[in-house]
Amino acid sequence: MIKLKKGKTPESLTSKEIIEKRETHIQHYEELERENKLKDLEFIFEGYGSDDVRKQLREDQKGKCCYCEVILYENEISVGASRGEIDHFRPKNQNINQNKNGDSMQKFGPAGYYWLAFDWDNLVYACKVCNSEKLAYFPLKYPENRASNHRDNCDLEEPLLINPYKIDPEEHIIYDENTGYIVAKPNSLEGKTTIKLLKLDRLNSERQKYLAMVKYFIRISNIDNESTEQLKKAIEQILQSNNNETFKNIFENLFEMIEKGKQLREEITKDSSRFAGMMRFLKDKI
Ligand SMILES: [Zn+2]
Repeated sequence: MIKLKKGKTPESLTSKEIIEKRETHIQHYEELERENKLKDLEFIFEGYGSDDVRKQLREDQKGKCCYCEVILYENEISVGASRGEIDHFRPKNQNINQNKNGDSMQKFGPAGYYWLAFDWDNLVYACKVCNSEKLAYFPLKYPENRASNHRDNCDLEEPLLINPYKIDPEEHIIYDENTGYIVAKPNSLEGKTTIKLLKLDRLNSERQKYLAMVKYFIRISNIDNESTEQLKKAIEQILQSNNNETFKNIFENLFEMIEKGKQLREEITKDSSRFAGMMRFLKDKI
């Protein structure tokens, strides 16, 4: 996970139609509240996922899942983790039947965060796997501060799930320098809860392989420019006296690897890179 910055609100979310929809939801809530029938609440949330919203989120997240940083593809054949979905950070629905890993759900109000269904601040782009792990869970440090309807103030909540648009995940999540395994910083309940809720450790073996590959190329590229030049000259001399194709290929590959390692050092911490969060934490330890 890395810190993200949100672009401007997509036009579709400020349209008259959407503003009216939100109003209708609020009226529906107030009506049932007056009649003491909140258990009958029913909302239809359509219109938060227009093309402009999807496009802006993809851009803001450099085409990656905001939680696990998997690269997302937008086409019909995208399946599994690679399919991008718009996620409501604060869940728009609540599902009282959810019970995950034996943890009982923290008490919600009569509904989810229905009033934030079209709120740009509440929308993120996530992979199918993270989204389906998250479901409608939204644990808080102090559940008694939960906003249960549109009149309550969400700013009083302290979510235990990290919103990378609001707080820097690097303050809460770290990685083992040998294995690349994801772990929470000691005493970070937010880090611990986020990893557990989204099962971010499911990617540990992928992280381990990626880290090993990066270490391999970077170590090869650690050779300085002067030594590279000397090595090139020495190899040219060898090839002059023994112009063997196999040798030549091996040496060419070697220089390609040195070059690739140098580029990799620059690339791995960029926002658009897979596992950028891990590489930012580990780059000086490699
Ligand atoms: Zn994900």
